[in-house]
Parts: sequence; C-alpha cells; structure tokens
Amino acid sequence: MSAPNPFSTPNPVSRKHPAALAVAVKGRLAAHKWLLLRRATQLGVLGLFLSGPLLGLWVLKGTLASSTLFDTVPFTDPLVFVQSLVTGHALAASAWIGVGLLIVVYMVVGGRSFCSWICPVNLLTDGAHAARVGLDIKGSLPIPRAARWWLLGTVLGVSALTGVIAWETLNPVTLLHRELVFGIFLAGSVAWMLIIGVVLFDTFVTNRGWCGHLCPMGAAYGLIGAASLTRVSGRNRAACDQCQACYHVCPEPHVLTPVLKGAEGSTPLVLSGDCTNCGRCIDVCHRDVFAFTHRFNRSSVPHPHGSP
Ligand code: SF4
Ligand code: SF4
Repeated sequence: MSAPNPFSTPNPVSRKHPAALAVAVKGRLAAHKWLLLRRATQLGVLGLFLSGPLLGLWVLKGTLASSTLFDTVPFTDPLVFVQSLVTGHALAASAWIGVGLLIVVYMVVGGRSFCSWICPVNLLTDGAHAARVGLDIKGSLPIPRAARWWLLGTVLGVSALTGVIAWETLNPVTLLHRELVFGIFLAGSVAWMLIIGVVLFDTFVTNRGWCGHLCPMGAAYGLIGAASLTRVSGRNRAACDQCQACYHVCPEPHVLTPVLKGAEGSTPLVLSGDCTNCGRCIDVCHRDVFAFTHRFNRSSVPHPHGSP
C-alpha cells in the first residue's frame, strides 16, 4: 500500500486512522507523543496511590476525592470541597489547604487536564470511543453539552438540601478509583454496574457521552480551565489543509472551531474551558498546526512548508 500523500489539499483522513498522515510525516512516536505521556501519567499517578496498599510505601494516600502526599501535603478535589461546603458542615484546615493547592496546580496546567491526564475513567471512555470507531457506530443520541452544568447544579443542590455529599456514592470517578486502589467493591455491585454503564453509554448511545456531556466533575474542572495558564494554540493554522484529523481525535471538537474556522485576526488560542489539554490534536496534525503555550502568547508562526 502506498503511503498517503501528506500535502494534497484537502486531505481528509479516516475516522479509524486519524493519525495516518501524522505518522507518515512525523513518524509513529511523534504522532503519539502526548498520548503516550498522558497514559504514562495516568498509570503513574495510579501507581503512586497503589504503592501504599501493595508495597506499604504510602506516596499518595486516599482517593482522588481527598488524599495526602507522604502523609503530609493534603489534596482535596474542588467539587468534593464545594459539596462539603454547601452541606453546611465545618471543614478542616487541611481541606482548605488541599483544595487551594489543587486549584493552583490546575490553574497552571489547565483545569480539565485532570480529565485527560489523571482521571482513570478517561482510560475507559477513550477505550469506549475506540470501540465505537472500530465498530463504525455513527449514530449518537444528542445531549446538550450544557447537561453537565445542570448535573453539577443538581449535585450541589442535593448536597445543600440533604446535608450529605450524596454524589460521591454514585460518582463513577470516585468509585473506579476506589476499586482500583482498594478493591473494595465486588463484581455485580451497583458501583461496577455504574462504571460498565458509562462504558456502554459512551460506546453505543452518545459519542463522548460521559466525559464530554455529563460528568459534573469535568464541569467543575472546566470552570478552572477557563482561566488557566497552559493553552493549546493553533499558531500555525494558516497551514491547515482541513484533513479533519484533529476533529476526529478531540474529545471536545467544538473547541477547535473558533481557532480553525474563526474570523480573520481571531486568537489562535483554544480558550474554552472544555479543552482537556490532552495534546492529541498536536499529535495527529501532520501540518504541526498546534502546540502547547501559555494564554498570553497569541502569536502565530509561518508555515514551514510554504502555502498549502
Ligand atoms: S489543524 Fe491539522 S489536523 Fe486539524 S484539520 Fe488542519 S491540518 Fe488537519
Ligand atoms: S483541543 Fe486538542 S488538547 Fe484540547 S481537548 Fe481537543 S484534542 Fe485535546
């Protein structure tokens, strides 16, 4: 089979092989660099939580909802913190410090970096997306992306009314992380059914259904992400040949449109808090349109290969 021509225009890639052109132009490793780093980080963070139960070396103790680093530095998930706050219960100083630390971290690296670089559910929902593409399922039940905001409001409303952090008994992120670290619930339990339900929902019902439309934790991190420092820039967008690879891989493809199809002179930065800073658009773009930068860098660079 002949290699795809990377510079014909337009040059659409298939949904099943979105990295094909990037592999042909940049090589397999460069076309998967951020994906590999992301998987290593997700598994590495899980390993830091597992080192205690498995080896007795407690690096990170607890769960993603609330943990401590070396039994000293607290981390508190922002949504868990706000849920606790609205219940009206007094919060320990460590909870305030823990949420402050995480907000500072995510203000730098990007709010929804949690979703793509840390959250274990992302491994499953990315798998569900791959299954969906592999099975060539195209139909997708439309759910407004605002649904996650409604769910977030409901979660906080229920906590305020009941005085209980009820969502954490149902939150697939907390349940999966607890299961992976402590193995405390059994196959066939409600928790497992919820997690499997998320995978089936993403595979057969709505494309990127859970993380992209419903997860209230992602919505909360998206609020931080709207103001965070690290951004993806389409600084070389003049070189785009509309191959569609970035749209195929982006878990929140609507964030790309203002950059690639926005008005003349609009910012090249992906400024939406929905962007997960996964870096996949950087990987699969054979024209090197995208790069990570900071929110104050609005510069563009000339196309290295000349006009398409
Ligand atoms: S930005 Fe890159 S990956 Fe996206 S459509 Fe343009 S050339 Fe393709
Ligand atoms: S714009 Fe790029 S970095 Fe942001 S979510 Fe989409 S693929 Fe990931």
